Order: sequence, then C-alpha cells, then structure tokens
Amino acid sequence: MSETSIIRPLQVYNSLTRRKERFRPLHEGRVGMYVCGPTVYGDAHLGHARPAITFDLLFRYLQHIGYKVRYVRNITDVGHLEHDADEGEDKIAKKARLEQLEPMEVAQYYTNRFNEAMRQLGVLPPSIEPHATGHIIEQQQLVQQILDAGYAYESNGSIYFDVEKYNADHRYGILSGRNIEDVRDASRELDGVGEKRHQVDFALWKKAQPEHIMRWPSPWSDGFPGWHCECTAMGRKYLGEEFDIHGGGLALIFPHHECEIAQAVAAMGHPMVRYWMHNNMITIEGKKMGKSYNNFITLPQFFSGDHEKLEKAYAPMVIRFFILRAHYRSTVDFGNEALQASEKGLERLYDALAALDRITPETAGALTETYADELAERCYEALDDDLNSPVCISHLFEACRTINSLADHKQTITPEGLERLRWVMHTFIYDILGIQPSAAAAGTDESREKAFSGAIDLLLDLRAKAKAAKDWATSDRIRDELAALGFEVKDTKDGAVWKI
Ligand SMILES: [Zn+2]
Repeated sequence: MSETSIIRPLQVYNSLTRRKERFRPLHEGRVGMYVCGPTVYGDAHLGHARPAITFDLLFRYLQHIGYKVRYVRNITDVGHLEHDADEGEDKIAKKARLEQLEPMEVAQYYTNRFNEAMRQLGVLPPSIEPHATGHIIEQQQLVQQILDAGYAYESNGSIYFDVEKYNADHRYGILSGRNIEDVRDASRELDGVGEKRHQVDFALWKKAQPEHIMRWPSPWSDGFPGWHCECTAMGRKYLGEEFDIHGGGLALIFPHHECEIAQAVAAMGHPMVRYWMHNNMITIEGKKMGKSYNNFITLPQFFSGDHEKLEKAYAPMVIRFFILRAHYRSTVDFGNEALQASEKGLERLYDALAALDRITPETAGALTETYADELAERCYEALDDDLNSPVCISHLFEACRTINSLADHKQTITPEGLERLRWVMHTFIYDILGIQPSAAAAGTDESREKAFSGAIDLLLDLRAKAKAAKDWATSDRIRDELAALGFEVKDTKDGAVWKI
C-alpha cells in the first residue's frame, strides 16, 4: 500500500434516516461539513469536548482518505436565550450585565478560552469559524425568504415561524421523530402563547426590549435574530444551499436542528443537509452534568484538577483518549476511575511508540510489511464503520503487544516491515486519532515540574556528597554545567539552592 490516500467506503449513521449509510459526497472529492459550535458565555466543559473531538476525528479521517473538506463551526454570540427558549435574557448579554462588560468582551474572552482548550485537546481549528453577530444580514435575508414563502408572520415587531402551517405542507419533526401533537403537549407546559399564534412556533427575529443591548436595525424592528437562524444562514453562505454533513450533540436534535430543517425547507423549498450526525451525551458518575448536581466540571478544571470531584489533574490527551475509547453514539460516563484507566491505556500507546524506536530489524525477520498492512486495513475498516474509534484503538493495542515483543527480541521484523509498522502506528495514533506526539503530554504540567525539580535536587545532593568527600572536580563540574544550562546555584548554610 502506498502512502497516498484513497477514498474509502465510509459508512456513517444518518440521524435523519436512522441507519448507517454509505457516505457519498455531493461533489466528488469534496466534503462540506457544518458543526454547531459553542455559545460563548462560560468555560467549555465535557459537553463541548465531545462533539469537538468527535467531529475532529471525522474531519481528520475524511482528509486522510483523500477528501478536501471545508469544515464550518460557528460561534454563537447572540440570540441564544436562557433555557433555549424564545423568551428570557440572552445568555451572553446576561453574563455581560453581571460582569459589567461589553457583550463582545464576554464573547471574545470565552471564544479565546474555548479555542485554547480545543488546542490543548488536539482539536484542529475548523476551516471557517463564523460568528452569529457577523452574519445579521444573512439571517435577515433568511427571515425575509421565509416570510415571502408564507411560513412566518410578524407579531408586535417580532417574526415567528408558523410551525402549524409548515407542518400542513411538510413534516415538522422529521429528524426528532416527534409529531406535532407531541411538540404541542411539550410546549404547553412551558410558557404562554404570548405574541405567538401557536405555542409550537419559534422566533426568527425578536424585537429588542428597551434595556436589551444587543440589537440591530431590521425592516421589522430593532432587534436580534432567533437562535436557530444562524446555522441555516451561515451553513448556506459557506457550504451552499445543499451540503453534505451537519453535526452536533444529540441534545441539539430538538428543537435546534428540527428548526434548522424547517427553516431551510421553508426558505428554499428543499432540505439543505444530506447526512445529520449526532454524538451522544456525557454523564458524570451516572448523572447528567448540571450546575445543580455540583458535577459541572469545566475543561480548565479537568486540566488543573481544581474541582472537588477530581482526585487529580487530567492531561488534555487523557480526556481526548477517553472520549475516543467510546463510540461517539454511545453514552460516556466520566469518573476518576475511568479517567485513570484511560491514562494507563494512553501510556501503553506512548510506551509502544517509544519501543518502536528500539527495535532492530532483521533482513530475514518473521514479520514483514504484510503484518503492518493488515493492521492498517483493520484500523481503516473500524473507522469506515461509522467511525468506530474503540475498535480501531483495540487493534492498535494488539499491535502494542507485538511491538513490545519485537523490542524484547521475542519476535523479528524486516526493515521494510518495521518502516511500514511505524508509518501505520504514527498515522493512526497521531494523524487520525489526533493524539499529540509527546510522552510528556501524558503527564500534567504539575507532575512534569515535580519530576524536573526532583532531578535538579538529586544533582545538588550528589554535588554536596562530592564536596563532603573533597571531590572538588565533580562538585565544580556539576555547578558549572548547571550554570551553562541556565541554573544559578547558591550555597547557603541550609544547603544549596537553585533558580533558573
Ligand atoms: Zn446550530
């Protein structure tokens, strides 16, 4: 097998048809992919890490097998109201009010922190990261088209999507499998109809109250777009009226993605997305993550260990590896024990990668390129099967056993076989699974710092012993060479101290 990529028979589970389908892009060799990004009013947590890592794996795999991918992941910085509802305060405006900041300061601050957490998790930046506030005109155009098509109405300066009318012509609930009666029943329990015609209708444009700071002029009122508009408007702008993949967390299926489908069909007369993909949710010790359970742990807290539920800090790669060890459509339960098991598993991979460099090949080795090619094929087959990363990882673990026995001279491999094996291991672990190529990444900053300080103290201890034995050559050498490396060593009456 050459190292040039070949497009593979990838199967993905389409939430719309509820079955695995062979992935066939709209345009040969190219993939358009849209994933709902964060609402930037707080630090990213595991609920953000899972879709980011799931679709990062898809992004990496599609590119690896030869597609040119345009990956759009948005930043929601306006229009997402509390409780995902049509009434209530804007999540970002609320945070801005509480912290006495400009809404854009809040959005920028948490966007930066989100991107930093993603970088630490080895998540590649998307091709385009559009902001909802940067696409108000496109959202207004979408609202106007829906009005023109007769599927929306104005009420007191706000525009609402007429779900009842849409449902009479098309089917509302096609993605979530709900019928309109279910939706009616569910929404009746929430708030009153207010200015809507029907409880099930949702806002496309909201008139801003006088105290509302995030507002834009429009033909209907000074106001702001409804939350669901941005993804339809920005997906269309950057990926076209029809595109391949739309992803996000399972919780977004209803109402967000259901509303996106209705908006697209109402505005353009046809659906926009061919494959809907959803990652399952994350629980913490069997419970839903939520502020009320006191189990709401942000990514920076995982990385620092600064949360009462955490026994220690967990390196970003441990979190990434943990998420990849479950299939994206199954639920994942986070707990200290499970994370520590994941840490051990990651160490096994790193150890095997290090052992690869110790193997001496033999011309008449028992293992050849065939062994590596078969390993690669098994890994490809796992990922072709709806991104089955746990199965792919189990094949890599099996290979770790072989690598260790090769390093221990219990088996032999040819030079070509070894080169090929190294390529397969590096490609799947680093490039496709996105594990960062550093054994040090398995440790935390704190643990590295501790090991480093311990090593210097050990050197100074050896120097003190040399001095005591009047071995001046050794003690001077330790001091001088540490100085050359940038360490300043001072002798005090309590012993030697150092700084960089
Ligand atoms: Zn969205």
